[in-house]
Order: sequence, then structure tokens, then C-alpha cells
Amino acid sequence: MNRGIIQSVRGMNDILPATCQTWINVEQTIREVVSLYGYDEIRTPVLEKTDLFRRSIGEQTDIVEKEMYTFVDRNHDSLTLRPEGTASCIRAGIAHGLLHNSTQRWWYSGPMFRHERPQKGRYRQFHQFGIEAIGWSGPDIDSEIISLGNRLWKMLGLTDLRLEINTLGSRESRRKYIDELTRFLATHISELDEASVIRFNQNPLRILDSKDRNTKALLVNAPVIRDYLTHEDKTHFDSLCRHLDSLRIDYHINNRLVRGLDYYTGAVFEWITPGQGSQNAVCGGGRYDNLVQQLGGSPTPAAGFACGLERLISLLEGQEDRRQPDLAIDVWMVLLGESAALAGHPLAEELREAGIQVTCNCGGGSIGKQLRRADQSGARYAVIVGDQELESNRAIIKELRADDEQSGIPLENVVDFLTKQLNNKTTSL
Ligand code: AMP
Repeated sequence: MNRGIIQSVRGMNDILPATCQTWINVEQTIREVVSLYGYDEIRTPVLEKTDLFRRSIGEQTDIVEKEMYTFVDRNHDSLTLRPEGTASCIRAGIAHGLLHNSTQRWWYSGPMFRHERPQKGRYRQFHQFGIEAIGWSGPDIDSEIISLGNRLWKMLGLTDLRLEINTLGSRESRRKYIDELTRFLATHISELDEASVIRFNQNPLRILDSKDRNTKALLVNAPVIRDYLTHEDKTHFDSLCRHLDSLRIDYHINNRLVRGLDYYTGAVFEWITPGQGSQNAVCGGGRYDNLVQQLGGSPTPAAGFACGLERLISLLEGQEDRRQPDLAIDVWMVLLGESAALAGHPLAEELREAGIQVTCNCGGGSIGKQLRRADQSGARYAVIVGDQELESNRAIIKELRADDEQSGIPLENVVDFLTKQLNNKTTSL
């Protein structure tokens, strides 16, 4: 029998305790920012019927064609681990009657799954935080979600994200544009890279997204969607630009910005890190005015974005950390002998009851060893209890970072004493 080490699934990462604190900080900041804008949380299952993604993301997208984790379950239903969050939000909104003649500002966060080629910034399980603003058709909501993202970067201390915007126009303008683009590409088909040739037949718009150097050079002369927009599309996009100007949010119009999911319509945007290679998009979104209807609801306009948390966190780790992760607890209990342990654990419970974080030394050890562990833990105080202390019903409290020692605090006063000490420290910080 093979008894080797079992590895995690390729492209699916463990997030270890040392990194979890950064994740928690980011998640807390996300909660702060969404509440500033009045967005409500929605949680949907990680497993959905495969049809949901086929109908929304589009049959001829990379995600649906080759990246979904799809399997047939015991009832012979085809199910898929969600590759993104928007489709599920809309499905849930329709199923619960929350979208009809109504507006919703929602956010979600959680793991997504795509069978892509793993590399830095691209994983098979990754996490997205997303926003969905459903029921509004104007550019004001587009700029609201962009400014929510902008505020999140600010609150996290990320400074060099660049906003790129474009419009994919209405269905009518897009159809005209795709015809024109196809005509242009047909005359250069032999110069296209392999992936673009495949896309040419299935989804020519996606060729604009090619990372191939030759294809990119060729696209310099390709027709641009802005020349095919209807009056209404143009008015919407120009107004979005004015809104962004009024919010003093810098943006760059990128005529070649398209998104990898078919449900996008109208204005689209990406936040990118300049110079981070092909995995440079931290957040992407835009309008998806047809999706609610496509999934069986009544026609309802909507806009949203999804932000990759791994990429966000890797950027934060690359910069000086603005919010120092704080893994340290308040108190380490040094417990010398069984009687001390029997008295010390209930005392730790009392401290926790008062909101103080405590780690008890388990497994015994000399006082020197236990104090070394206390020191390594980063705790601010050690509470020392041994036979001698128990006899006099007292504990020694040692301030580990200041070398201050208070012997003989009566056990019944320990909670009060430490509560005051810790409060003083927090207020004087
Ligand atoms: P998308 O849902 O494809 O529009 O992607 C939105 C954001 O999710 C991207 O900008 C990335 O930050 C993140 N993302 C998408 N796919 C992956 C992946 N395979 N691994 C890590 N992050 C991803």
C-alpha cells in the first residue's frame, strides 16, 4: 500500500496561519467598505447546476469550454463547482423573487474553481470578492461600484492600481463591430497565433485580449468598438467618464479591453497592476444588462465586479505591510505542575470571559522553557502559577516586553489587574 505524503490538489493552496491574518485584515476591510456604501452580503452554494454557467458565462468561453470542474452526481445531475459568483447571485435573486421591480446592492466573497494552468496569480481554487448592483441602468451605478473598488484599494494602502475602461456597446453595436472585426481578422488569419485562430471561429472579440506579441501588433490597426457605438451607448460611456472625473478617479480608455465572460454588455473595466505580466488584473467588471433575463427573470439591468483576493494579497505582501498582522495573544499562562494546571485553566477561562486572549502552556516544562515559549508567542504578559503561588493563592504577572514583574497578585484580582493593564496599553497606543 502506498503510504507516501498526500499532496494538495494542483493549483489549490493551503492558506497557513501566518498568512491568514493578512486575509482576515483584507476581509475586514472589505466588510468596512461595503457597509460604507450600503451593500448587503449574499452567500450562495459552491456547487450549482452546470446549465447555470453554460447559459450565463457562455458556451464559447475558455471557462465553460475547458476550465469547469463538472461532474455527474449520484442522481445523474450535471453539477459544477462555481467558477465565478455573478451567475449564482442572479440565480438566487430570481429564485427568491428579489429582483422583480426591485433594486439590490449585494456583495459576496468565497472560493471559485477553474481548471487553468497554475502559475503565480492563477490558481485552480482562488477567492473572489464581488459586487452586484442590480436594477439600475445608468452610468451613476457603474461609477459607484468603481469608486467602491477605489476606496478599498485606498483603505488597504494599495497605491499603484490603474483603472482601464471600455464599452462593449449594446447588442446591436457589438454585432456590427464583430462583423467588421471579423472581416479585418480574416485578411490576417495566417498571422494570428494558434489560440486566436481558434477564437476567430468561436468568439472573435476575445482575440482583442490576446497576449501574443505578433497578434497584439496586428491589432493596432484593427477597427475599434468606439466607432460602432449607438448614440445611447456613447452617451452612457461619456457620462460614466464624467462621473469618474467628478470623483477624481483616474482612468485610461483601453479600446481592446474585453472580458472573458459573455454576459458583459456596455461599460466594462479592469483594475490592473502595471508591469505584472499576464496575471495583472486584480479586479474586473462591468454591466451585464441581459443576464437576469437570460437566466429566466424579467429584463433587469445590472453591473458588478469581481476582485481576486490572492492577487490583492500578493500585492499587499509586495508592498510594506500597512496593517501589521497581529498574531500575538495577550497572555501566556505558565503552569508549573498539575495543581497549577488545575487552577490555571479555570483562571484562563475567566480571563477569556473578560475578552482577554490566553494561551495555556500545555505539556509541562521548566519555568525557563515555559517563559521562552511565552516570549516566542509574542504574548504581552505571562501569568505564572506554581505550587508556591497556589499556597498563598497568588500569581506572578510578568510584562514580557518590558521586563516588569508583579509578584503576589491575588488570584481573584488577576482578571481585574490584567483588564486594566491591557486597556491602559490600548488607550496609550
Ligand atoms: P473574472 O471572473 O475572470 O473576470 O476575474 C476577476 C478577477 O478574479 C481577476 O481580475 C483576478 O483577480 C481573479 N481571478 C480570475 N481567475 C483567477 C485564477 N485562476 N486565479 C486567481 N485569481 C483569478
